[in-house]
Amino acid sequence: MIIHFQNEDYCLIHLGMSGTIHILDKKKPLKFTNTSFYHSPFLPKKHNHAEFIFDSLKVIYNDPRRFGFFEIINNYQDLQKRFKSMGPEPFSDKFNLNYVVNYFKKKNKDIKSFLLDQRFVSGIGNIYASEILFASKINPFKKAKRLNKNECLNIIFNSKKILQQAINKGGSSIRDFKDVSGNKGTFQKEFKVYQQDGADCSRTNCKGIIKKKITSNRSTFFCVSCQK
Ligand SMILES: [Zn+2]
Repeated sequence: MIIHFQNEDYCLIHLGMSGTIHILDKKKPLKFTNTSFYHSPFLPKKHNHAEFIFDSLKVIYNDPRRFGFFEIINNYQDLQKRFKSMGPEPFSDKFNLNYVVNYFKKKNKDIKSFLLDQRFVSGIGNIYASEILFASKINPFKKAKRLNKNECLNIIFNSKKILQQAINKGGSSIRDFKDVSGNKGTFQKEFKVYQQDGADCSRTNCKGIIKKKITSNRSTFFCVSCQK
C-alpha cells in the first residue's frame, strides 16, 4: 500500500506474511473493524506495533511475525527508485514475449524460481507458480534458457489466466486467509497440482501422478508425465 500525504511524503506499507490493519472507532470502543487479510473478530492484545491517531478513530497495525514494514519516502523520484528493481506485473503489457525471451537468455536457473523471483515478474506466489507451470505443461525444474518461444508464450498466457481465475474465486484459503469482509476464497478447490501429491493427473489422457518436491524450503507440485 502507498499512502500519499499532503506534504508530498509517501508511506509505503507492506503487510509481510501476517500483518493486519485495524480501525478503532473512538466513539464505539468495543466495535472495531479488521480491514485486512486474516480477518479476526478481536483486536489482538499483542503485536500492535503502530498507531495512527485521528480525531474520531485510530488505525492500528498488528504484525505477530514482523515481516511487514512501514517506510517513509520523501518524494516521487525516490518512490520510483524504490520500485525500480521490481519486475512487471503479470497483467501488464510489459510482461510480453520479447521481455520473457530476452530475460531467459543464458539463465541457468529453473523456471519455477523465476516465477517466484519478484525482479522477473512481481506478485506470483508459490501456489500459483506450480499451477501456472502445470497449465503450461512445463516441468518446474527446466532451465529457463531451454524454454522455446511457445513455452514462454504459454507461461505468459497462463500467468494471467490462473491469477485472474484465482482473483475471481476470492483467492485461495489454505490456512487462515480471508478477504476484508471475512470471507474465505475458494480457488483452493480448483488446484490441479498444489497439495495434490499422490493424486492422478487431472489432464485428459495423462496417466501421470502428481509429485511434490521440496527445494530451498519451498514445495513444488507437478505431474511427472505431462510436464516436460
Ligand atoms: Zn499429467
